[in-house]
Amino acid sequence: MPERVYNFYAGPAILPYEVVKESAKGAVNFNDLGMSVMEISHRSADFDRVFCDAQMDMLRIMGLSEDEYTVLFLGGGASTQFCMVPFNFLKESMTADYVVTGGWAKKAVKEGKYFGNVNIAATSEDRNFCYIPGDYDLTPGAAYVHTTSNNTLVGTQMRDFPETGNVPHVCDMSSDFLSRRMDYGKFSLIYAGAQKNIGPSGVTAVVVRKSWVDQAREDIPTMMAYRTHLDKNSLFNTPPCFAVYVVGLVLKWILEQGGLEAVEAANEKKAALLYDYMDDNSDFYMGTADRDSRSLMNVTFRLPDEGLEKSFIAESTKRNLIGLKGHRSVGGCRASIYNAMPYEGVEALVQFMKDFRKNG
Ligand SMILES: *Cc1c(COP(=O)(O)O)cnc(C)c1O
Repeated sequence: MPERVYNFYAGPAILPYEVVKESAKGAVNFNDLGMSVMEISHRSADFDRVFCDAQMDMLRIMGLSEDEYTVLFLGGGASTQFCMVPFNFLKESMTADYVVTGGWAKKAVKEGKYFGNVNIAATSEDRNFCYIPGDYDLTPGAAYVHTTSNNTLVGTQMRDFPETGNVPHVCDMSSDFLSRRMDYGKFSLIYAGAQKNIGPSGVTAVVVRKSWVDQAREDIPTMMAYRTHLDKNSLFNTPPCFAVYVVGLVLKWILEQGGLEAVEAANEKKAALLYDYMDDNSDFYMGTADRDSRSLMNVTFRLPDEGLEKSFIAESTKRNLIGLKGHRSVGGCRASIYNAMPYEGVEALVQFMKDFRKNG
């Protein structure tokens, strides 16, 4: 293997190489302290700077103000947010609206039902989640509306979000967080497992409107309450320090690229290269998502039969293109081309697709 391959895994996933190398330094001797960033106290001044910088950089990238929002770095993955959100905000007599656009959204629904009424405001399950529904049956006075911005398994992405009016909007942005410009201020709570687009596994970013936390239930277990983490600035218990450190480096990398405008332009260019080739060869590489719903992050496709898919994946690894197998629940192939995937990686993939089509 070369020192670096093109990594198309869906998560944990590719990180900017500069970040990987920098974090390797910090893993040994952080800030010239003679200690690893893994060895220092989460209450030390050096770590405090890492933590506060990451919080501030994230808000800055999103165009949100510190007065209104806070960033929490929590453990338990995005999956824990599936239950923390209703635990805090869905009182028994209330209804929450869920837009069900994939397997992760279904898991969020399951947790919501433990706490209150769940209304499926829209679903695309009738066609295996290959599209984003356009009409939403929203409940007036709902506790919140829950959406998933990008559906990692099926390769669809939400472009137009439901207008929720005064109802708080919660969004699982795990697999396209900080990949594009957006009015982030219309959401009351955004959560994202870091390991798809902004860091290693082990930490989940929760960006929450502070005034909404004031309305959360308080009669719930300490670690489950957003209030606890807000009051202690995410340091109620030991945070996943190393993961937060790496997320911080990724945020600085995003700022160096030119922020979300530059990142979005790069993502659009990469996705266009791949989708344009697929569209011209759709008798062989068949995209599984409807064109107007497809994701700039996870590109899903099938080949004419499973035997060809198997050899496609086997051959691709010989070209150092790694992780192209689709999720086990949907099969086929998937190329995850997150922020950190260089344009050259997608070029190499498209070249391989051309060669494979020609030579088998
Ligand atoms: C991966 C993923 C999750 C689950 O994340 P964990 O951190 O493994 O709990 C949730 N939602 C989406 C959209 C995902 O892609």
